[in-house]
Amino acid sequence: MNSETKICQNCKQDFIIEPDDFAFYEKIKVPAPTFCPDCRTIRRMIFFNRGNLFKKIEALEGKKIFSNYPEEANIKIYDHDYWWSDDWNPMDYGLEVDYKQPFLEQLKELNFLVPWPGRAIRGLINSDYCNQASYLKNCYLCFDLNNAENCLYCVSSNNAKDSLDCYASPKPELCYEVCHSGNSFQCFYCSDLENCRNLKFCEECINCSDCFGCFNLRNKKYHIWNRPYSKDEYFEELKKINTGSSKEIIKIKEKFNELKIKLPRKYIHGTHNKNISGDYIYNSKDSFNCFETEGCENVRCSQNLISSVKDCCDYTDWGENSELVYESCCSGDNCQNMKFCFDCWPAMQDSEYCLCCHSCSNCFGCVGLRSKSYCILNKQYTKEEYEALVPKIIQHMKDNPYVDSRGIKYTYGEFFPAEFSPFAYNETMAIEYFPKLKEQAIKEGYLWRDKSSGEYKITIEASDLPDDIKDVTDDILKEVIRCDFCKNAYRITVAELNFYRRFSTPLPRLCFSCRHMERRKKSNPLKLWKRQCMCDKQHSHHNGRCPNEFETSYAPDRPEIVYCEKCYQQEVV
Ligand SMILES: [Zn+2]
Ligand SMILES: [Zn+2]
Ligand SMILES: [Zn+2]
Ligand SMILES: [Zn+2]
Repeated sequence: MNSETKICQNCKQDFIIEPDDFAFYEKIKVPAPTFCPDCRTIRRMIFFNRGNLFKKIEALEGKKIFSNYPEEANIKIYDHDYWWSDDWNPMDYGLEVDYKQPFLEQLKELNFLVPWPGRAIRGLINSDYCNQASYLKNCYLCFDLNNAENCLYCVSSNNAKDSLDCYASPKPELCYEVCHSGNSFQCFYCSDLENCRNLKFCEECINCSDCFGCFNLRNKKYHIWNRPYSKDEYFEELKKINTGSSKEIIKIKEKFNELKIKLPRKYIHGTHNKNISGDYIYNSKDSFNCFETEGCENVRCSQNLISSVKDCCDYTDWGENSELVYESCCSGDNCQNMKFCFDCWPAMQDSEYCLCCHSCSNCFGCVGLRSKSYCILNKQYTKEEYEALVPKIIQHMKDNPYVDSRGIKYTYGEFFPAEFSPFAYNETMAIEYFPKLKEQAIKEGYLWRDKSSGEYKITIEASDLPDDIKDVTDDILKEVIRCDFCKNAYRITVAELNFYRRFSTPLPRLCFSCRHMERRKKSNPLKLWKRQCMCDKQHSHHNGRCPNEFETSYAPDRPEIVYCEKCYQQEVV
């Protein structure tokens, strides 16, 4: 089969469908998509609120509860525990298929009729202000997190302990401001580490301990600005640096940026891979265009997946022993053959167009079901009836597509239209990975909601906070601080103040959301460019400039020195 160039229905740009894509579509029996890969990714991401917590009235008793959804969102919610109880039945909302209207029109109606759980949580202890999370204890404002204890403001960092402000970092302990780092202990202001202890302001280091302001180190100890010191000298030198001062931190970061920009870096972030492309990809093989993924095999155009994911395409968030998943989001944990699903877990099988369903098999166009089989639009059928009906509905979806308010057609084979999402563009993961200004998002047909600053009365400007943590008194716990960037309110908790004091770290000048966005901005975009290795040093495999080419998320106009794997390895030993 040849590759084919198509025009994206949404952005009207060309995109290419490769023979391998066609083979996959053939295998899972879906037509080729009509949206380009980026528009498909955005379409999934606008369903996923990763870092906001709202208050919303639940539909049972009219109580205001913490919720995944803003008050204005056109979606009905129940309190989490009630939703998961047997005191109500989602099958009561079942609809008969009506061939006079588009199937997705009916599914949209059902989606806004059936209540959703207020938050997406499992097994939380004393962690009320968390969402998209499971098995947390004593955590506060943590999102997309599993198995964590005593953590604050962490996002997508599993098995975290006693850490603050960590992002996409498995197993951090006593860490602060750490991104894309696995197995870190007591690391501060770091990214791209592996198995490191007591590092500050370091990047791209593996198996290091007690280093400050270092880049590209392997198995090193007692280094400052990439230079070795004796143990005693190292600690003497550190005493001269006041990391408790906010102004000092800015200066250290500037100095570190000057150091690292002169040093080569690898074209990709990732380790233990074979035949892959993307960025932040680990332990994977035969997987392409994968970002922030781990343990993938034969996966394409996917993001944020963990632990054993096989034969999947256009899959955003989760994984965990899942295979044959296509165009799905926030779904995983032993799922198989799942297409066009959102928030479906665990052990979903052979299901399509489902939302918020759990442990179901052979369901088509259902919302909020648990442990059901052979259902369509929340109505029960026999196996025989189901198997006869589904092909009929698929044909009906092709003949009579859903048309959104912008005239875009959704036949069988497309993920849910944006209009199904209860969120505005800026409340979801989409704004993190595809930043857009308000005007631009609205022009492109996305919903936008300005954040309300809440009921809080600001008592202090972030710029008026004491520069040094040693000058901060307990009175700070009573203050409502105005974020330096978004101007919304935030507070300092007791646990966090204790942490800042213990590790001599200044108070943050930005609110949680802005800090998370700052960390996200440091990662490269979900995009790849074909480039040539920039190395012109003496290496055994090349004379003059290295001829090796690669796909990298470093755009050609960026200032970093980007090397191929071979050259990079020879530089960092
Ligand atoms: Zn597009
Ligand atoms: Zn802010
Ligand atoms: Zn090279
Ligand atoms: Zn070289």
